[in-house]
Amino acid sequence: MKIKALVAGNWKMNGLKASAKEVKALARLIAKSPKKARCDVLICPPATLVSTLKEAAKGSKIAIGGQDCHANASGAHTGDISAEMLKDAGATYVIVGHSERRADHGETSEMVNAKTQAVHRAGLIAIVCVGETEAQRDAGETLTVIREQLAGSLPKGITAKNTIVAYEPVWAIGTGRTPTADDVAKVHAAIRAVLKKRFKSEGEAMRLLYGGSVKASNAVELMGVPNVNGALVGGASLKAADFDGIIAAYR
Ligand code: PEP
Repeated sequence: MKIKALVAGNWKMNGLKASAKEVKALARLIAKSPKKARCDVLICPPATLVSTLKEAAKGSKIAIGGQDCHANASGAHTGDISAEMLKDAGATYVIVGHSERRADHGETSEMVNAKTQAVHRAGLIAIVCVGETEAQRDAGETLTVIREQLAGSLPKGITAKNTIVAYEPVWAIGTGRTPTADDVAKVHAAIRAVLKKRFKSEGEAMRLLYGGSVKASNAVELMGVPNVNGALVGGASLKAADFDGIIAAYR
């Protein structure tokens, strides 16, 4: 099955209004490349920049997304932002369950499940992150952890259009270390099997991203792994030239 890839950038807690210049530069790089990239492109900035970057990306193929949302649409939740608000600001995707939120904010798979439903309620696409810690990997628990996170985090009735799964080994995020292509293939095959069993043809067509220290120099190898339909990129998404170097894996 042919699945259109997505190269998504997660800016985390980085970026000011001036960072709009990176989005404009990326749009220029994408447009002037002699070879068209066969992938979708997304940048998820801090919520404060969603509308600014949406404006900066006007006329380009770059979509803008959020990094998290509250499960409710509105209410007494000081400091939180809903999926509806992100949509109103110009987002079309929302990352949920990133390991930094699971670790820093104690987010459980049950909470991620509620957030995923909120993203769908708002008519947006959820990027649901799963991944094992180094200790879990060393204990040989990778697949057990991933299966548990998938079972808990994915609501029933999801589709290939409204949900993307990102496999991000926690120990590979921001460390410069990556699993081998074989290891990524094994985990992605296991994720695909879970999705196919639970969501049938929708699970077969769902995009599976790999994330964790993806950069231009390893993108071709990692993006060439079976069942890898794109990347979720942190550090290397902040600068237009670096991010374009990853998008180039699809040219
Ligand atoms: C991430 O935070 O989602 C990520 C993959 O980060 P990095 O690319 O910097 O490892």
